[in-house]
Amino acid sequence: MAVLETIQKLRDELNLHNYNYYVMDNPTISDYEFDIKLKELQDLENKHPEFFDANSPTQRVGGTITKNFQTVAHTHRMYSLDNSYSKEDLLDWENRIQKVLGNVDLQYTCELKYDGASISITYENGKLARAVTRGDGFQGDDVTNNIKTIKSIPLQLKGQDFPEKFDIRGEIILPFAGFEKMNQELIEIGETPYSNPRNTASGSLKLQDSSEVAKRPLECLLYFVTGEKLPFESQFEGLESARKWGFKVPKEAKIAGSLQEVFDFIDYWDVHRHNLPYETDGVVVKVNLIQYQEELGYTAKSPRWAIAYKFKAEQVATKLNSISYQVGRTGAITPVANLEPVQLAGTIVKRASLHNADQIEKLDIRIGDTVFVEKGGEIIPKIIAVDLSKRPEDSKITDYITHCPECNSELVRNEGEANHYCPNFYGCPPQIIGRIQHFISRKAMDIEGLGGETVALLYNNHLVQNYADLYELKVEDILPLERMAQKSAENLVNGVKKSTLIPFESVLYALGIRYVGETVAKKLAKHYKNIEALSRATLMDLILVDEIGERIAQSVVDFFENEENKIIIQRLKQYGVQFEIVEKININATNKLEGKIFVVSGVFTQFSREELKTAIEDNGGKVGSSISSKTDYVVAGDNMGPAKLEKANKLNIPIISESDFMMMITEN
Ligand code: AMP
Ligand code: ZN
Repeated sequence: MAVLETIQKLRDELNLHNYNYYVMDNPTISDYEFDIKLKELQDLENKHPEFFDANSPTQRVGGTITKNFQTVAHTHRMYSLDNSYSKEDLLDWENRIQKVLGNVDLQYTCELKYDGASISITYENGKLARAVTRGDGFQGDDVTNNIKTIKSIPLQLKGQDFPEKFDIRGEIILPFAGFEKMNQELIEIGETPYSNPRNTASGSLKLQDSSEVAKRPLECLLYFVTGEKLPFESQFEGLESARKWGFKVPKEAKIAGSLQEVFDFIDYWDVHRHNLPYETDGVVVKVNLIQYQEELGYTAKSPRWAIAYKFKAEQVATKLNSISYQVGRTGAITPVANLEPVQLAGTIVKRASLHNADQIEKLDIRIGDTVFVEKGGEIIPKIIAVDLSKRPEDSKITDYITHCPECNSELVRNEGEANHYCPNFYGCPPQIIGRIQHFISRKAMDIEGLGGETVALLYNNHLVQNYADLYELKVEDILPLERMAQKSAENLVNGVKKSTLIPFESVLYALGIRYVGETVAKKLAKHYKNIEALSRATLMDLILVDEIGERIAQSVVDFFENEENKIIIQRLKQYGVQFEIVEKININATNKLEGKIFVVSGVFTQFSREELKTAIEDNGGKVGSSISSKTDYVVAGDNMGPAKLEKANKLNIPIISESDFMMMITEN
């Protein structure tokens, strides 16, 4: 096959797999196989730059930097929608349009109103040509490179019957699950979490580095096709066509034959929207036939043929019983409202976030108050106002705590920061426990056999004071602990021992230096190669490293200046923890794996799959492509397919982790 043909075939295949995975939620190959094909395509494209295509699936990883987004005019104006808040409003609307149309038989398309950032994407000859934000409706920002990284947006359309050129409109959203995950990662490194999915989605569109956008689990839900010579006659058919061309068009849309049916749709989704994986804030009702839409036309701001019905943000009043204060791993204090339990949006709410001292002061929230609680895009509800008419006469202004609820140290609040902090880094129990929990977590030291609760148990029983103490734990020390059996005690000790194989970059992340997340840890590890060099770096040195800002640099310097940290690192070194970069490929070449057949599956943290395979072969082993009775070991990472897992279990083939594998080739 000619090279170009192979390239084209791979692109088509990868486009189809992207579609199956991100639009249909129905993958037909494993991530592993997908990665292999993508790599194959990438290699071919590298070798043959003459076949470059801006819409190749390889372009989805991003990497372009946009300093200033170009302002461009919309070919078709992007209108707003008129809002309605009651069924009367909708009846009025129908009367108005029936006056124009002359009381015709009307059908409506009912859709959910997705809460994100709107986008207009132009396709030419089936290829994504340009994506522009709404802006002022007449012109917006060209964010094409960022949009291409969103995998549910087709770069190449399916089928044949699309117009030569058209615009499609949609909403860029961040589903709850992805949003929570992003926030979890921020919390882990002591950063402030994002406040809601909509703002985060909308902020993502204007990120300068498109590879950062690629990392965010954004989606695009499409709702409108516009252009000349469209091959359909109604809004609903438009949605169906878009779906056929490969776009993600939610299935909830429905045709209503009357306003009564529109009301039914609204009533149903007012309740059931809480089960959707993303945020919606209403229903959009559109006159279905395009012919009628054209007769109705537009006002200065919005189409006359469509109207949004806004759901009432669910709100309840309840009593604020008390305020408690939580201390995080970094010492940040979070105030939490303890409420009289109340039903809200399908769940019973007992607690609400109060954010920080300013928020409490601004709303003048007092214990004993009746407060209004609302559930928006966030998972934790928030207090939006106080019902002053119900305030008890003897109520007192809330004095924010001045001392840590856990260790009684005086709290500090840095210039320009919203949160108070407990500065007792080494003596405050939740900070100590939180740091050790971070240390053992999967992306850090990945210690098997040890979980967050056991860490608290170990600390409370004075067995560990810091993460270096983990390496001195002995089976007989931990056996007396509650629910600790011989086997689990041994696993714990072994897990700790195995963590000495975890590479330097993960160790650096595990140390829990404020603002040093996974990515920064990688950068620093790569730049400095070992901990001595890093610990000697001055503020200036650090700032000169690519992507390291002053805030991170200062935090690193502070960490290494601290005497206790120096001692802990010294101890970790003695226990054999990795404090320098190892050139992995040459770890060793032995014949330890002679005659053994391995199958590698899933995603790994310490190695790429290729490195793992090289290591197997360098040590005399063989790599098999699928699991069979001949397989000796399956090396499993994350997301190993369930079918493979089942097969391995059925054939009784040992499944080992990458750390287990490292042990195999390094132990004597
Ligand atoms: P507004 O911003 O309140 O003027 O509402 C108009 C916006 O609602 C549009 O610009 C779209 O971004 C958004 N929207 C969300 N879902 C839909 C939908 N199903 N149909 C039309 N617009 C929608
Ligand atoms: Zn404290």
